[in-house]
Amino acid sequence: MPELPEVETVRRTLENFILNKKIEDIKILYPKIIDDDQEEFVQTLKNKTFKEIDRVGKYLIFKLEDVAFISHLRMEGKYQICKKGDILSKHDHVIFVLDEGMELRYNDVRKFGRMKLVDHDDYKNQLPLSKLGPEPFEIDYLELYQKLKKKNKAIKTVLLDQSIMTGIGNIYANEICYQMHLNPYTKANVLSKKRVKELVDVACEILNKAILQGGTTIHSFSANGIDGLFQVQLKVHMQKHCPLGHEIKKVMINERGTYYCPICQKAKR
Ligand SMILES: [Zn+2]
Repeated sequence: MPELPEVETVRRTLENFILNKKIEDIKILYPKIIDDDQEEFVQTLKNKTFKEIDRVGKYLIFKLEDVAFISHLRMEGKYQICKKGDILSKHDHVIFVLDEGMELRYNDVRKFGRMKLVDHDDYKNQLPLSKLGPEPFEIDYLELYQKLKKKNKAIKTVLLDQSIMTGIGNIYANEICYQMHLNPYTKANVLSKKRVKELVDVACEILNKAILQGGTTIHSFSANGIDGLFQVQLKVHMQKHCPLGHEIKKVMINERGTYYCPICQKAKR
């Protein structure tokens, strides 16, 4: 599943291709992807020009002149830039026919992704974005500390709660705990202010590093589609050994695969 850095990479890459391109038509091949009335979705966006792509957490917001729609890739959604007439894949579900003979295609093997019209200016105050907490980049650590004080749950679980802080998925939650030498079972409410500040710093550092890496990893995406998934250097997630050579343990915490090093990430003394 794409996480914040991957979605940011998708955003930046797509901006290079579709800004100032006009939507001539939209073909919806799998209606459930669109969370609105299909006809309304098409009529609202038709003949509008892409002006900007924003990102909030793992959501992309495509802004056209005075209208906008939000897109969540969920498990396997990806965008592809094609030429008119290119062979359609059976997983292409929404086709934005653009001017200059281009098409923006939304491809999704699992069909879990969704698109929905939102207000051009006020989308952050509308669902689904209104229920999200701030991203690590903008959160005030004292505010986070106060929120964590009320959570008598494993920090690993709380890191995935998008209403507290948005943009951290399972992979980076595992990596953040490792870099902090923090046992994933540690209750969120025992973290000191100093540790919470460190948590925010480490989260920003890991996400920024991944964004930077994404920007340099993706060269061409018109051929294979862009889902932003790229090889980041992971230290514990899906690994056998930590960087110090200790054996990684895999457990389930709140039904999510949690990888950690029992030696580097000793339980809270
Ligand atoms: Zn270790």
